[in-house]
Formats: sequence, C-alpha cells, structure tokens
Amino acid sequence: MKKAIFFDRDGVLNDNINRHVNKPEELILYDGVPEALKMAKEAGFELFVVTNQGGIELGHLSHEMLKKIHDRLEALLEGYCKFKEIIYCPDFKKPSECRKPAPGMILELAEKHNIDLINSWMVGDRDTDITAGKAAGCFTVKIGDIDSRADINELDLPNRRRERKVDLEAVVEAIIEESE
Ligand SMILES: [Mg+2]
Repeated sequence: MKKAIFFDRDGVLNDNINRHVNKPEELILYDGVPEALKMAKEAGFELFVVTNQGGIELGHLSHEMLKKIHDRLEALLEGYCKFKEIIYCPDFKKPSECRKPAPGMILELAEKHNIDLINSWMVGDRDTDITAGKAAGCFTVKIGDIDSRADINELDLPNRRRERKVDLEAVVEAIIEESE
C-alpha cells in the first residue's frame, strides 16, 4: 500500500481570497506550491486533489469548465509533479456522500489506488477538510485559522515563510518530518 497526501484545492494550492475560481485564468497558485508538491512526491507520497465544487450544482460552472481549470492546474505543475488523480464533488445543497465534511472522496481514492490511510494526510483550509480527513482515518494539516483537532497547523510552523499567504513548502517539510 502507498501513502498519500490529499490536498484541498482552493485556499491550499491556489488563492481564493477574493473570488471563486470559475475560469482557468482565475487559478493562481500560491508561491512555492510546485516545489512543495515535487518534494512530497519525491518523499514517496502519492498526490491527490480532493475539492468541493458546489458551484456546479449552483450553475456557476460546468463539468467541462472545471476540466479546463484542472488542465491548467496540471500545466502549471508540469516539470514538477503529476497528481495521481484530481477528484471533485459537484454537490452543494443536495444530500451528498462526497461533499466534505463527508470523507467519501478520500475513501473512494484510497480504495481505487490502494492507499494506506493511516499513513496519509489531508491538507485543507476549512474545518470541513479536517473533519473529512479525520473521518477517513488520515492525519490532518490545517491551513489558516488554527484548528485544535489538526495534527499540524500551518500558522504554527516555525519554518513558515512569513511573506507567503500560505506556505505549502513548510507544510510538506513538516509532514515529511512527522512521517519519518
Ligand atoms: Mg479550501
């Protein structure tokens, strides 16, 4: 079995402070994200994106447009790393087994790709990400506001680069250290 890191997308890989990402050109990676993902891959983790995209149910974007956004994400990471899979939940209000805080997307990926969840991590910027990661049996990393349930809080990391809104490199360094 392989270990993995499941990354939430918005607010973790890309900046969504000002707006939702409904078009490819609106996807702007935080500084250091390609380098962080490359480091994680080289440390032996499979990489996944696990993202709620309720804008699909709401009619703000289509499956086709989301595919284009994720094509851009992969293009921006070319030469650094490849995600094993990018998975999303299109639901917003309707009852959903995939929309976080439900762990459905993580469990589906683990089953499909033979992932060892107890040695894997969920990284997210919302409490729903932490709830989903814990429900799936993973370790968790919280970006932004502190969540006492998380194993690592990004804002608490001593090696965090203060000029960055989110320092995913510091997060991956901490995950690797905890996993040794
Ligand atoms: Mg998010």
